[in-house]
Amino acid sequence: MLDLLITGARLADGTGAPLRPADVGALDGRVVLLPPSTPSQGYGAGSHSPQGYAPGAGSRPDPRARVVLDGAGMVVAPGFIDVHTHSDAASLFGPEFAELAAAPVRMGVTTEICGNCGSSLFPALPERLEELSRSSRTSFGGRVPIFRDFAGFAEAHALAPRANHLASLVGHGTLRAGVVGYEDRAASPYELDVMCGLLGDALAAGAAGLSTGLIYTPGTYGGTDEVVALASVAARYGRPYVTHLRDEMARVEEALEEAAEIARRSGTALHVSHHKTAGRHAWGRTERTLARLAELRAGGMDVTCDVYPYTAGSTSLSAMLPPWANDGGTPALLERLRDPAQRDRMRHAIAEGVPGWENTVGNGGWDLISVASAVGHRELEGRTIASLGGDPVDAAAELLLAEGGQVTIISHSMREDDVRRVLAAEFTMIGSDGVPKPGRPHPRIAGTFPRVLGHYAREEGLLSLEAAVHKMTGMAAGRFGLAGRGVVRDGAHADLVMFDPAVIADAATYADPLLPPRGLAAVVVAGRPVVTGGEPTGATPGGIVTP
Ligand SMILES: [Zn+2]
Repeated sequence: MLDLLITGARLADGTGAPLRPADVGALDGRVVLLPPSTPSQGYGAGSHSPQGYAPGAGSRPDPRARVVLDGAGMVVAPGFIDVHTHSDAASLFGPEFAELAAAPVRMGVTTEICGNCGSSLFPALPERLEELSRSSRTSFGGRVPIFRDFAGFAEAHALAPRANHLASLVGHGTLRAGVVGYEDRAASPYELDVMCGLLGDALAAGAAGLSTGLIYTPGTYGGTDEVVALASVAARYGRPYVTHLRDEMARVEEALEEAAEIARRSGTALHVSHHKTAGRHAWGRTERTLARLAELRAGGMDVTCDVYPYTAGSTSLSAMLPPWANDGGTPALLERLRDPAQRDRMRHAIAEGVPGWENTVGNGGWDLISVASAVGHRELEGRTIASLGGDPVDAAAELLLAEGGQVTIISHSMREDDVRRVLAAEFTMIGSDGVPKPGRPHPRIAGTFPRVLGHYAREEGLLSLEAAVHKMTGMAAGRFGLAGRGVVRDGAHADLVMFDPAVIADAATYADPLLPPRGLAAVVVAGRPVVTGGEPTGATPGGIVTP
C-alpha cells in the first residue's frame, strides 16, 4: 500500500515535456507512477473553491494508498526548487518567525538553496566566529551563530524542524570575513590558501557550490584573481560558481565579463544570480546581457541565470552607502554614521559616484527606496527614505544607528520589459531571493513561483506552463546537482506540488507581503503532505540536502 496517492491529475514532470494524465503515488519518500485511473479533465476544468481545493471533499478512500488526494482539474509537478534564497537561518529563529519561515513552502517550494550573494552561515576560522556573528548579513544581529564548518551548520538545522529541504552554497563574503576579517585589502597568499582549504572542506561535506556578492562588503574587497582561485576549487568538485555580479546597474556588462572570465579561467560552471539591469542607466540592457549569455553558451561555457518576477529588488540599507562606509564591518559602520563629517563624505559619494561602486541611490533616488524591515521602528516599514523628512542620508544614518545596522529595504529599480526578457530566456531558472525578515519583506518570499505560473505563464502567455515548471524544477536540480529531485518519475524523491492551473496566482503584495498564493492545493515533501488546502499541515519531513 502506498503512503500517498494523487489521482486524476495531469502531470508536468519537470522535464518540460507536455502535460499528461498520471496518478502519482509515494512510498517511503519515493515516487511511484501509476497509469491514470480516471480520465483527466482538461486544462482549467474542474470546480474551483477560492483556494482551488476543498479540504476533505477532495479526498476519498482508495484501497491503493493510506492518503489519497483528488487531483481532478489539477496539475501535479515536482516540488519547486528555489535556487536563490536567504533562508539560511529562517528555521533557527524559533516560533516567532514561523510565518516567515513557512512562506516559501506555502508557495510550493520543497527545496531552498541558501548561502547566496556571498553570505552563508559557515565556514570561518574559530578565532573569527564572534566577529562574524556580529557583522554577518544573515546572522540577524548576532542572534544566529556563524558555524566553523558545514557540519556545524547541518547539525544546528537537524535540531530545528522544517517542512521543506535546504541546501547551502558557501558564501565568499563569509569565507573572507572568516579568514581575513572585514578589512579592505587583498588576501595574502597564505590567507587565500586557507580560504581555498575551508571551501574545499565545505564542498566535500555537502555544500552545493560557491557564491559571491561582489557589491557587498567584505566580498567586494576580493578581486577577480581571488575569486578565480576559489572558483577553481568549486570546479574540482564539479560545483557551480554562483554570483551576484559586481554591478547590476550602469556597469552590468563589465561585471558580466568579469564573471565569464572567472568561469573561463577556473573551469567552473557559471550561474548569474537574480539577473537584472537596474537603474535608469541600465534599463533595456538585458537585450545585450542575454545575447552575451547565449553567445557564451554557444561557445561551450556552461552558464545559466535566475530571476524573480518583480521590478523591485530588496537588500540591506547599508548597501546603499559607499563600500568604504562598511569597512571593518557593522561596528565600524555605526561609528562612522555617528560622525557628521563622515556622513558628508557619504552624501558626496552618493551624489558623485565612486569608481567601481554600483551606487543604487545615485542611479535611482531615495524616493524609490522604502523600509522593509526595521525591528525597532515598525511604524516606518513601508515608507520611503525620502519621506522620512530632513536630509535622506541623515534619515538613513539615524535609522541604521537606531537599528544596530540591521535595516532591510525595497528598491524600485527595474523595468518590466527587462524582467520579462530574462524570465523568457531558455537558460533562466526561478529564484525568489526571499529575505526572511519581519516587517514588510519583499513579497517575492511568498509570491514568486505562483506569480510566474499565474501572471506570466497563464495570463501573459510569456512561457508555457510546462516550460515554467521546468525552470522551477528540473533545470534547477540539474544546475545544483540535486539528483532525483526536480522531476517526477519512478524512484525520484517524492517532493511534489499540486495546483489548479486556472487559479494559481500570487496574492502577496508590498503592503501585505506574506499573503499565501491562490490555487496551490497541496505540497508534498518526502511523500508527506506539508501543505493542504493552502494551509501548513505541521509535518516537518524536511532537512539538509546535498548534491
Ligand atoms: Zn544578491
